[in-house]
Amino acid sequence: MESAHTIGRAEALTKLRDDCEWLLVVGGGITGACIARDAAMRGIPVCLVEKVDFGHATSSRSSKLIHGGIRYLEQAHFGLVMEATRERAVLSKIAGHLVRPLSFVYPIYKGARRSMFEISLGLTLYDVLSLGRSYKFHRMPGKAAVANLSPRLKKQRLVGAGFYYDASADDALLTVAMIKDAVKYGAVCLNQMTYRGGETVDDRVVAARLHDEETGAEFTVRVQGVIHAAGPFTDDVMRADDASSTSRVRPTKGAHLVFARDRFPLEHAVVLNSVVDGRVNFAIPWGPGTLFGTTDTDFNGDASNVQASREDVEYLMATVQEYFSELALTEDDICSTYAGLRPLVHQPGKSAYSTSREHEIFSRSDGVVTICGGKYTTCRSMAMEALNTFLRVTKTWRKGQPTKCRTSRVPLKEAVGLEKFGKVLSAQQRLVKLYGVDADQAEHFLRTYGNRAGNHLEAFEATADGMKRLVDGLPYVWGDVDAAVREGFARTTSDVLRRRTRVFFLAPDQGKAIAEDVSKRIGELLERDATWVLRDQERYLAEIEEGAQWKKES
Ligand SMILES: Cc1cc2nc3c(=O)[nH]c(=O)nc-3n(C[C@H](O)[C@H](O)[C@H](O)COP(=O)(O)OP(=O)(O)OC[C@H]3O[C@@H](n4cnc5c(N)ncnc54)[C@H](O)[C@@H]3O)c2cc1C
Repeated sequence: MESAHTIGRAEALTKLRDDCEWLLVVGGGITGACIARDAAMRGIPVCLVEKVDFGHATSSRSSKLIHGGIRYLEQAHFGLVMEATRERAVLSKIAGHLVRPLSFVYPIYKGARRSMFEISLGLTLYDVLSLGRSYKFHRMPGKAAVANLSPRLKKQRLVGAGFYYDASADDALLTVAMIKDAVKYGAVCLNQMTYRGGETVDDRVVAARLHDEETGAEFTVRVQGVIHAAGPFTDDVMRADDASSTSRVRPTKGAHLVFARDRFPLEHAVVLNSVVDGRVNFAIPWGPGTLFGTTDTDFNGDASNVQASREDVEYLMATVQEYFSELALTEDDICSTYAGLRPLVHQPGKSAYSTSREHEIFSRSDGVVTICGGKYTTCRSMAMEALNTFLRVTKTWRKGQPTKCRTSRVPLKEAVGLEKFGKVLSAQQRLVKLYGVDADQAEHFLRTYGNRAGNHLEAFEATADGMKRLVDGLPYVWGDVDAAVREGFARTTSDVLRRRTRVFFLAPDQGKAIAEDVSKRIGELLERDATWVLRDQERYLAEIEEGAQWKKES
């Protein structure tokens, strides 16, 4: 007998074959997720397909900043900064449990590229472009105050710092939260489902060929149009539709190092100029860890297997060791690394770093729209624009159908009541008080389940090991594994340990010790056999090996 969660996928597959003309969204990163939610909220029958897992590509490998992008001021991309600061405010309101204010220290040293005055001017402009939507206005602390704000930061030649606020969010969780919300509005969202191309009749796309990665089944669904939101895979997807289509995307690789927070303690995020090439690098607090990134280099390899290289690690470590020399961090302190591809739009003559982060939308008269480029931060407005373009091109607006995009006003259902940061903090404190969980767990449960955190905690407490931590020192519990499979669309150990929780990045052994038990548990929930369990576990262990490949490079 199938259990509730397997019926979820089976039901979705049955619904997909309904006598219905779908708007098919290709790609389950944050862009596709936001398009699916917007379309479902407007009453459009929408189906999203993702070939691996929701957020598995760029949308789980970012710097996790929901930001205006202070560095874009230098390049005079004021439009992008204004749009991004507006969207930062929108996302903080509609997904308040996930998008939270983050304070930044931007230290200034004698002889640096920018003086205190210039940084102050830049941050004033940043506040102005935010149109009063900054969490708090910036200030310019002197040397002694900076030493208090960020005690382990290099003090020699320090003059002072800019201190300002942006926001951050767990990128993978926010992507899944958008997908969950889209489903609540009626979208059909399937991971492990690959788009193989469209079928056209009378110059109009009428069907899409799909491949179920779990069963190997190939089938066709009727569509009213297709939106490609395939990030760095945009060229491949466009060619699946039209072999002669020209290349649009210039993928550039960004790598991050992850350290344990107690080894690399950080009170605020820190903005630094790389000692190698002066590019902006960030040290960012990330739950029980600290992130350091990122690189920006052209990428010509296999987009489905992007890893940090030894060169990336050495590039980043040089700046870490210069500015946090007191911590004496070495490569042995790196818990894990990750790398992702920015799906930038080609701009001939520009370097990777100076290529615009703005998005572009390409539309064809046969009903196929492609969106690429952009930032995680601008996902919602990009989705709105892509959908409006689709409706304009295909003229599929139906009488009585809500035409207006409502995504900037309506919070995710699990974020209702958590629109302000103060409310989020109170909700966290309530979880500690009512359920006796530690503060780190209260934060994790609230981020993952929003206003349903209490219900989940009660359900976990009702099972034998639901509240048992997966790994000592990390907030995740075994109940999270069940919830990830039952309600979070997770299908593999990698989905659970890399994206629904962050064990892969933060546990000292990257989850090796629990991989077998997690695979078995998922296998039971999805009614898989022993061979599947073994393969799933092997795949996860192989991912750990691939991520550590840089150690073997000379
Ligand atoms: C290192 C790095 C740091 C970054 N930091 C930030 C930051 O701090 N803040 C910020 O705002 N932005 C940041 N960005 C940018 C941001 O992460 C991306 O713009 C965003 O995640 C792109 O999302 P996407 O949905 O367009 O693409 P993706 O997340 O890559 O999603 C595309 C999806 O399409 C799927 N797909 C491809 N082909 C098919 C097919 N045939 N069928 C079905 N599915 C398919 C893929 O599997 C993939 O999951 C960063 C980017 C990088 C690389």
